[in-house]
Amino acid sequence: MLASGMAQAEAELTARIEKCEAGSPEAEILDAHMEILHDPCLAEDIQARIDSGVCCAASVWDAYQAMIDMLLEVEDPVFRGRATDMVDVRNRLLRCCEGLQETDFSALREPIVLVANELTPSDTISLPRDMLVAIAAETGTNTSHAAILARSWGIPAVLGVPGLVAAAQNREGAIVDAVDGAVIFDPDEETLALYAARRQNMNAEAAADAAAVRQPVVTTDGVAVATEINVGKIEDIETDAAGYADGVGLFRSEFLFMQAEQLPDEEAQYRAYSKVLKAFGERPVILRTLDIGGDKELSYFSLPKEENPFLGLRALRLCFAHEDIFRTQLRAACRASAEGNLWLMFPMVSSLDDFRRAKAILRDVQNELGAEGISCDPQMKVGIMIETPAIALMAEAAARETDFASIGTNDLCQYTCAADRMNTTVAPYNAPENPGFLRLVAQIARAYTQEGKPLGVCGELAADPRLGPVLVGMGIRSLSVNGASLGSVRRNLSGKSCADMAALSEQVLACTTIQDVKDILG
Ligand code: PEP
Ligand code: MG
Repeated sequence: MLASGMAQAEAELTARIEKCEAGSPEAEILDAHMEILHDPCLAEDIQARIDSGVCCAASVWDAYQAMIDMLLEVEDPVFRGRATDMVDVRNRLLRCCEGLQETDFSALREPIVLVANELTPSDTISLPRDMLVAIAAETGTNTSHAAILARSWGIPAVLGVPGLVAAAQNREGAIVDAVDGAVIFDPDEETLALYAARRQNMNAEAAADAAAVRQPVVTTDGVAVATEINVGKIEDIETDAAGYADGVGLFRSEFLFMQAEQLPDEEAQYRAYSKVLKAFGERPVILRTLDIGGDKELSYFSLPKEENPFLGLRALRLCFAHEDIFRTQLRAACRASAEGNLWLMFPMVSSLDDFRRAKAILRDVQNELGAEGISCDPQMKVGIMIETPAIALMAEAAARETDFASIGTNDLCQYTCAADRMNTTVAPYNAPENPGFLRLVAQIARAYTQEGKPLGVCGELAADPRLGPVLVGMGIRSLSVNGASLGSVRRNLSGKSCADMAALSEQVLACTTIQDVKDILG
């Protein structure tokens, strides 16, 4: 198993090296990977572990991990880079030991329906979106990042269908129904006709939504509601929605990291952030600092193995543990702040202690840049994502201390309802209609309204046609949604009065059960 795995890994690397220009950075990285693969110390360690009775996969993992941990102890960035390469080679070797082939989407010649067991966000972000008709996977839920990404591209995605991969074997076609969450293989004529009619209706709606993309939201009683977009891939700024949105309510900076082969340096980050800021001119761009962990991993950066990664060393916590990475990002963001209207936002804050600690590091970075004579926006707003119940319950104090906040309902809902957003089995418990969760959101809205500080919602709930109006009714005046939904959200809100939405929200907040809320919203 190890010998065949080594042979396959070597063949894959050789093939990739041959395709690269000699001396190019990619060729150099791949050469380094080949060296790691044949490292005699590693080979000896793996063999010793196998000889002592440990299985091949665990031996490979443990031998590499021991070396990676050692390298991560060293402060020198060169050693850290080496650890990153080792993670990459380890993953390749593990796959090859199982005889699995590397997925090469660049070979696709016609669009496909992608059926998978599990789709990680880094898998998803590297998919060629023009070659995807739809996505279906056995694991995950509506608020998994794979689903969020697909939705932002306007691609139907159904996650959390058990037995899907086996059911897909030897099938010729499939319907992926993202409205009802169903996947139908080899549909018969009648089903095809039914879906053709449904698609026709949806196309008519889509045309009306496309027209509404250009219209900022003013309710029928004259209240303006900012409608912004969430940006993942930098290409998201080239869409129609980006041209007309009121700003970027959430720039998921970690996707830049997930698309890279190694940690993007200050210059690469500065270029990416500047590009987005310039594209939006005076419109605000809320840049969220690195939110890795949970279901978001970096192929080249080893995260600790955790029982509950969503409750673990995630986002800001990870940045505190790797302050060098955090500082590099803050430097890039502060430099880019001179190019537009940047608001900086920290994710996964669970107390004001977190916020103060992050702000102190930011201040230090700003002073450092000042001493270097580099100009930054001195007025840059600094805020938080409200995603944990602990900070939500401190909303009044948070509203006094922060410049703004955005409610990350995807996480706030899972943490409040104690139902993992990745776990299909408990998906019904992760319900935004839970009155406990809605009351918490209303409490945050009251605190920020009273303090007169900007508050938005950037989780998927903002695009929910039933609950979006409830959020506005609570007093929230900024909703950030995936670009593909901007038109429908604008159309939905512009046709309503703020007074009606406030009355609806009061009705909903008086409910005591999920079912009552559902009954009201229809
Ligand atoms: C959220 O938690 O609502 C959010 C927007 O962040 P993410 O989905 O990336 O965790
Ligand atoms: Mg979140």
